[in-house]
Amino acid sequence: GQQLTEPRLTRTVETPEGMTELGRRLAGLLRAGDLVLLSGELGAGKTTLTRGLGAGLGVRGAVTSPTFVIARVHPSLGAGPPLVHVDAYRLGGGLEEMEDLDLDVALPESVVVVEWGEDRVEELADDRLHVVIHRALTSPSGVAGGDDGGTDAREVTLRGVGARWRGVDLAAHLGGGTV
Ligand code: ADP
Ligand code: MG
Repeated sequence: GQQLTEPRLTRTVETPEGMTELGRRLAGLLRAGDLVLLSGELGAGKTTLTRGLGAGLGVRGAVTSPTFVIARVHPSLGAGPPLVHVDAYRLGGGLEEMEDLDLDVALPESVVVVEWGEDRVEELADDRLHVVIHRALTSPSGVAGGDDGGTDAREVTLRGVGARWRGVDLAAHLGGGTV
């Protein structure tokens, strides 16, 4: 059924540390050739999640916003795949343009994480994991991000697309409901 063809999971993430932890757990699911597309407004937590992915994959170098570059390569400290962290905001031509960037790793041998990738990259890859981050409406006033004592919670929705993700049990790998 639908569940099998397109696994989907929503998690509430209360803190930046929780977002990093979710990334760590998610890294356990990822392998060379995987593409992760992150969307969510500025400050949603895309880079924070990617930091956790980097920690979970065991890669070198601080994961920061790839603001002044299109892509940053983080080689693995062990035997795992490198992490290629892309800011699609700067990537006019999608993944095809990345082939021209002269990265010193091959994309099919890397885990590729693209911030803002949804519009620019998704048509170029049959298999991808979409991660959408929203500010959760949990403050007392019901206004997200207010200064009225509400939390900074985020709602994170993951959706696997393509044969790669068919039958993958996201919940089993990512654990409990609130991080
Ligand atoms: P993006 O890459 O989406 O623009 P960043 O990860 O760079 O966002 O920034 C997210 C900011 O929001 C960080 O300063 C982080 O500390 C803060 N933050 C507060 N609460 C959360 C949360 N629950 N999850 C993730 N980030 C949070
Ligand atoms: Mg960012």
